[in-house]
Amino acid sequence: MKTRQYGEKGQTGMAYAQLMDVTGRINDFLNAANILNWDSRTMMPRAGAETRGQQVATLSVAARDLLCSDETRRALESAEAEISGLPEGDVRHTMAQHVREAIEYHERIPTSVLRRKEELAGVAHDLWADARAASDFSIFAPALEKMIEINREMAAAIGIGSHPYESLLHKLEPGTRIEDLDVLFGRLRDGMLPLVRAIGEAEQPRSDFLYRHYPAKDQLAFALKMAKRIGFDTDRGRYDTTVHPFEVSFTRNDVRITTRVSENYMPMCLFGALHEAGHAMYEQGVDPAYTRTPLATDLIGLYAVGGVSYGAHESQSRLWENQVGRSREFWANHFGEARDAFGDQLADVSEDEFFRAINRSMPSLIRVEADELTYDFHIMLRTDIERQMTDGSLAVKDLPEAWNAKVKEYLCIDVTDDANGVLQDVHWSGGQVGFCNYTIGNVMAAQLFDTARAENPAIQQGLDKADYKPLQNWLNEKVCQHGRRYSRDELLINATGRALDPEPYLTYLTGKYSEVYGL
Ligand code: ZN
Repeated sequence: MKTRQYGEKGQTGMAYAQLMDVTGRINDFLNAANILNWDSRTMMPRAGAETRGQQVATLSVAARDLLCSDETRRALESAEAEISGLPEGDVRHTMAQHVREAIEYHERIPTSVLRRKEELAGVAHDLWADARAASDFSIFAPALEKMIEINREMAAAIGIGSHPYESLLHKLEPGTRIEDLDVLFGRLRDGMLPLVRAIGEAEQPRSDFLYRHYPAKDQLAFALKMAKRIGFDTDRGRYDTTVHPFEVSFTRNDVRITTRVSENYMPMCLFGALHEAGHAMYEQGVDPAYTRTPLATDLIGLYAVGGVSYGAHESQSRLWENQVGRSREFWANHFGEARDAFGDQLADVSEDEFFRAINRSMPSLIRVEADELTYDFHIMLRTDIERQMTDGSLAVKDLPEAWNAKVKEYLCIDVTDDANGVLQDVHWSGGQVGFCNYTIGNVMAAQLFDTARAENPAIQQGLDKADYKPLQNWLNEKVCQHGRRYSRDELLINATGRALDPEPYLTYLTGKYSEVYGL
């Protein structure tokens, strides 16, 4: 990977260096918060939660205050003047532009609204938990109503895009337009619903062996082995266990993933690890020259991250987890190793049976347990509902009914109760919207994977013989190394020649499920 040294040309002066110094300190605050968050989810005794929350909040507020301070503004203005003569595409313009946009974004949101949101989030979370335990939406409804009201105020203050929902999406998935989502989701629905229906009538492949007893320690060892195989660099990373798997980075040289284990369901740990390894490889691939800069810091979301959007991040995790990790070739190469690790459990299982079992699809009520094909329907129905709640066209009291109707429409199943329906996700209690990033990630993954293989035959040849380096190199060159330099769509257009296009994803799904189910 080529690295750039700023100032090599002798053009970067003191003012730009000062801007980099102050944004470096903002990144330090946010990385420190990341470390505290990692610790709280892996090592911390539960009793530490309250103080830890305060510590993380202090660091986030310090980062925001420093970003919006006179010191940063002065540094930005001087730097902009100093670099004004540089050519248009120079990365230093992008750095400065990120800082300017972030200051403007944060300035628009009144502190009083932020504070109200934060205060409500604590209460709303507890009410959501109570409501879910009792499977009674009415317990959570009043808090959710208030949260939506605050979100609408925030959307109006942010004022980006043509719909309040676009304003809110800006933080997670900048540049996403509702009309584009409509087209994308419409095409996915048309392409995927016939598959879901056909699978509903087809015979399910055998999968009993996935539910046998697999000792946690053997699963963790095998999952880590596979994560390293595809390219997760453990010299610059760690691997631990948690209840909810995640990936977090504190610069490209310290990227940590976690997975969870069920001793009676083998795919959870393995594919969780491949998924998080995909996220980790994105962060490990960011250009080292971007460390501590605005191109490895989300200054709008106030989060130290090198990936450009949640959807772009998800494209890397889903690509390695599904397109590679659940492929025929992958198991042609690695089923023997799985057999070595789990000799008793897989003694009566063929490679073909294993491949079919890990790709089986069955509509279910719970998003986080959904398979690759039905997952996007969980996302689409949440996106429909988030939008309608945000623009006021769906009243909170009508939410369970709307939810249940959408589950019936998209997944062809009946919701049994609120706990397994509208109350299953924590996100809305904190005012967080933007589920669409998962589907954007799936679509983007297929598009990148398709182009990669078409462009460079060595990539497929590599996959055929368990050499993942050619694919990783291609992804590094086209996606990872750029950090936050380009927008999600710019990255995609540069890499594949076009913006989000669902066709490669639909072709992939149709091909895979036709094979698995003999459709
Ligand atoms: Zn993910």
